[in-house]
Amino acid sequence: MRYIGGFVYSEGRMRRGYARTDGAEWSVEIGDCPAGTDFQGVMIPPLVNGHTHCADAGVRPERGMGLLELVAPPDGLKHRYLRETPPAVIGRDMRRYGEESRENGIAAFLDFREGGEAGCRLLRSACPDAAVLGRPLSGSFDQSELDGILSVSDGLALSSVTDVGPPNAGRAADAAHRAEKVFAIHASERTREDIDTILSMEPAFVVHMAAATDGDMRKCADAGVPIVVCARSNRFFGIVPPIKRMLNAGCDVALGTDNAMLCGPDMRPEAAEFASVLSAQGGDPSDVWRCLVEGGKKILNQPSLIALAKKTEEEIVVLPCPGGSPESALASGGAVRPLIGRGSI
Ligand SMILES: [Zn+2]
Repeated sequence: MRYIGGFVYSEGRMRRGYARTDGAEWSVEIGDCPAGTDFQGVMIPPLVNGHTHCADAGVRPERGMGLLELVAPPDGLKHRYLRETPPAVIGRDMRRYGEESRENGIAAFLDFREGGEAGCRLLRSACPDAAVLGRPLSGSFDQSELDGILSVSDGLALSSVTDVGPPNAGRAADAAHRAEKVFAIHASERTREDIDTILSMEPAFVVHMAAATDGDMRKCADAGVPIVVCARSNRFFGIVPPIKRMLNAGCDVALGTDNAMLCGPDMRPEAAEFASVLSAQGGDPSDVWRCLVEGGKKILNQPSLIALAKKTEEEIVVLPCPGGSPESALASGGAVRPLIGRGSI
């Protein structure tokens, strides 16, 4: 029998636990490890990265660049880069991103893919772990373009209702729902947007909500619409996500690493930043595990329409925790032991 000692996420929190194997499959148990082990880890289900833009890894933003200057469509630095860079280069960058993501124990990432139908096709062929959420290239939002994107994507995801206007956003939402696919959107990232308008489009989830009021958050909670928080990306732009208020409002919260040009696909530093922001707001930093595990699952399963190449159930990821505490797993850059077998977390 071989053992890995440490902690197991179970029933909403971290508990002391261990994994063991007789050489075939692994199983996870709660309690003290009955034998010595030379490896300590945090055992959780495979991670879901709730929000990415993996195509912009090659953009080199300068410190101090504002949100609009860097990422606003159509002429922010990132969008100029995506227009001017050969697809082969972007495809290569996305493939590397996907490989790094998998090495870090991430089973699936939900990508807001720019570049219309062709952009979605490129991501689909580069990254089997990506849930591909596309957006139109043209500003017209005509049905045939939307249908073309939906023929290859898992759904549609827009930059914001402010960027495209409510009528266009509504057209995209209708097209996605008709195709029985996901509709998602950034909401209230820098300035507050009307949550009633956004929720009327029945998004599977919204991203950011940093400028939202408590009332806006309660409406998301009541509607069962999860919020993806991207704490490191927010920090780059001087934005602090109101995580404690979201949790107090009863929202389902997940984590995302957002733009590849700002943050690599590793949920550990993302979760560490999330926990640090939550702690500074007077919240319980250990809530990060629930958001990481349960929130991630909600984002992935809420749509329930996303066809992933790989099953994420009944697998375990072991994050090394050399410091002997669950928190040390988030500070550690050690190699993740991915998918050690089948478990029952
Ligand atoms: Zn984003």
